[in-house]
Amino acid sequence: MTLLVTGGAGFIGSHVADALVEQGHEVHVLDDLSSGQRHHVPEAAPLFEHDIRSDAAAALFAEHQYDGLVHHAAQIDVRRSVEAPRFDAAVNIGGLLNLMEAGLDNGLQKVVFASTGGAIYGEPDYTPQDEEHPLRPVSPYGVAKLAAEKYLHYYQHQHALDAVSLRYANVYGPRQDPHGEAGVVAIFVGEMLSGGQPVINGSGEQTRDYVYVGDVAEANLAALAYDGSGTFNVGTGRETSVNELFRMLRDETGAEVEEAHGPAQPGEQQRSVLGAEKANAELGWAPRVSLETGLARTVDWFRDAFEAEPT
Ligand code: NAD
Repeated sequence: MTLLVTGGAGFIGSHVADALVEQGHEVHVLDDLSSGQRHHVPEAAPLFEHDIRSDAAAALFAEHQYDGLVHHAAQIDVRRSVEAPRFDAAVNIGGLLNLMEAGLDNGLQKVVFASTGGAIYGEPDYTPQDEEHPLRPVSPYGVAKLAAEKYLHYYQHQHALDAVSLRYANVYGPRQDPHGEAGVVAIFVGEMLSGGQPVINGSGEQTRDYVYVGDVAEANLAALAYDGSGTFNVGTGRETSVNELFRMLRDETGAEVEEAHGPAQPGEQQRSVLGAEKANAELGWAPRVSLETGLARTVDWFRDAFEAEPT
């Protein structure tokens, strides 16, 4: 297939692009490099440096007749979405619609969309949260992801097109930005390997479901191969507190740091853990990398990266 991977210079999108190239697909990357890095784009994939909201991005569909769109470009910062909801919606909803309208005019057959399980359900009524759990996003970011899923449902209904939304848990692994607002694993590892002091927000008893980026890339392959449409959680069912994560990373890095707590983030969700039975049953996907193994790989990668270019 000829595929357009948006956000393919970013953390998750670049792993997805690598996996698709490896599978023999012709991959093009669309990324404005607002947070992505040119060197993360696979060598075999041309990079088109445009904003997903632009006419230049839309024009790619007429030029290349993509079979599939794998959509990872986004405004990903939940706090920024609270400060600037119109910007968040312009990128995360408007950008998707710009690409979809152009795609549908040019024979697009399939869309895989990077949605969120962490921000779309809200505080759990029960755990693990499955796809039937009520949707109560409490940030503009979560609301926009939900709207994007609904637009895809509309497009799928109105046009001969398959759309798969993957609701990711907290994704971690090599290439995640250690200086970003999100991505606690990368932030903690970055601090620990550079002699800094990671700060745990609040009590640290808040829990998340951490899924390794290689497993997420495999979920994208499964979604592309899937003959149909749907919404699937991509998580592990394992709930880990920030305090536990801190200790695991301290052991793995060997850093001599104390557990330090800062103020709680206002409105921060207390628990999140996703059941992925539906993805297992319908896509044949299950996570393969345990948290222990994934954290070890991540620390190794950051160690090498920091040695090559100390921060
Ligand atoms: P990332 O910031 O590394 O990747 C996003 C990429 O999109 C970057 O390369 C950035 O340059 C590009 N981009 C941003 N705005 C753009 C625009 N207007 N036009 C073109 N390119 C633009 O973030 P990530 O963690 O890899 O996230 C990828 C996707 O997965 C996002 O859609 C995000 O919402 C979703 N997601 C991530 C997580 C997670 O834990 N990291 C969890 C749930 C969902």
